[in-house]
Amino acid sequence: MYDPKSANAEEFISHEEVLDTLKYAQENKNNIALIDQIIEKAKLRKGLTHKEAAVLLDCEIEEKNKEIYALAEQIKKDFYGNRIVMFAPLYLSNYCINGCVYCPYHLKNKHIARKKMTQDEIRKEVIALQDMGHKRLALEAGEDPVNNPIEYILESINTIYSIKHKNGAIRRVNVNIAATTVENYKKLKDAGIGTYILFQETYHKESYEKLHPTGPKHDYNYHTEAMDRAMQGGIDDVGLGVLFGLELYRYEFAALLMHAEHLEAAFGVGPHTISVPRICPADDIDPTSFDNGIKDEIFEKIVACIRISVPYTGMIVSTRESKNCRERMLRLGISQLSGGSKTSVGGYSEPEPEEENSAQFDVSDTRTLDEIVKWLMELGYIPSFCTACYREGRTGDRFMSLCKSGQIQNCCHPNALMTLKEYLEDYACPDTKEIGEALIQKEIANVPKEKVRNIVIDNLENISKGSRDFRF
Ligand code: SF4
Ligand code: SF4
Repeated sequence: MYDPKSANAEEFISHEEVLDTLKYAQENKNNIALIDQIIEKAKLRKGLTHKEAAVLLDCEIEEKNKEIYALAEQIKKDFYGNRIVMFAPLYLSNYCINGCVYCPYHLKNKHIARKKMTQDEIRKEVIALQDMGHKRLALEAGEDPVNNPIEYILESINTIYSIKHKNGAIRRVNVNIAATTVENYKKLKDAGIGTYILFQETYHKESYEKLHPTGPKHDYNYHTEAMDRAMQGGIDDVGLGVLFGLELYRYEFAALLMHAEHLEAAFGVGPHTISVPRICPADDIDPTSFDNGIKDEIFEKIVACIRISVPYTGMIVSTRESKNCRERMLRLGISQLSGGSKTSVGGYSEPEPEEENSAQFDVSDTRTLDEIVKWLMELGYIPSFCTACYREGRTGDRFMSLCKSGQIQNCCHPNALMTLKEYLEDYACPDTKEIGEALIQKEIANVPKEKVRNIVIDNLENISKGSRDFRF
């Protein structure tokens, strides 16, 4: 039985409810009156239910689809302005005891180079990341209680936060590790993590079990209920995501929104972020062997429909996607972007020799962080290295209420300008710096409150004189 408040995965992601939703969406995909009504509701910027969103996803009326895209772009602007938050993944270890058939880290892959970084190697990686200009990391590790126990993850987080190299600092570590216990989530919370991210991969239980034939991840309920345990452990910023291409995208889309509704219903806080990875080539993985791959047009529609359904949630796209695809996604709803990413273990400080491939997937967008920063600014975006909320204790429902009321914008915009200024001073090449300085000058005028504007102007001046880490 479908129950968004239930603690049981099969009740808050009820298979029957997903099927009913898909049927309803198919029946109404040309129902102009209903579609208009849903679009009007979406314009209130309070979000949509999974049923309403599914109708828009299936909508076949070209004129209405144009309205959906335009609304997604508008909502993106209203909630996120022209800022894009930057981050990089850091792979600690690719040892893994699971059998996920879409990931080259699966246990049976004897071909891939297995690596686990020592704390010294992590130090080198973090210095390399700091030297690129990164301030926010997403930590990745395979599931392996012997090689990657929680103590190893905690020690690594501690190492990362402790490194102060030149003007660099990693100020927020988000963590993407396997589903674990409430006690371990408490430990992660105490270690000062930002968001806990766990991709569901697929919400379709039967497919899930086939795609995860062996290892602890095989347990669908344990995996799907992980965010509940994370919340119980005190982590109130959690990040959802599915791997598009494994199952029918319409199924995943509806279930993903049901998961967001569940978190709202059960804990009063929706997901902090939603990631939209698509399956892509990797060591022994050929994406064409999965028959649910989605074309760019469908992918765009998914991003636009998520944007208007959960306007307050940050959306992330990684370097799995090409430059052109990312450009379109940014307009439709993406608010966070990785840049200069390496998806191998230890790939930042030294390039990996070809015969030692340890990467989780092949990167499509191979540009450096500086190239991406420059490109974003040329497109009119402000690359932001802001990490202020988590450091100011603005997490969970505190963050959401500021976000939903739109007040968070008063922090995001000035923080984006100040952290971009730090980047320009410390890491940018001359061309990027020139474009960035002009952008900051132009954007200062868009800080609405005079008092805040004057503080920003002072802080920018102090940053050029060598001070760092100002924030609202
Ligand atoms: S997706 Fe995660 S759990 Fe599965 S094989 Fe890869 S690293 Fe291991
Ligand atoms: S102020 Fe908070 S919400 Fe805004 S960019 Fe910074 S960390 Fe994100």
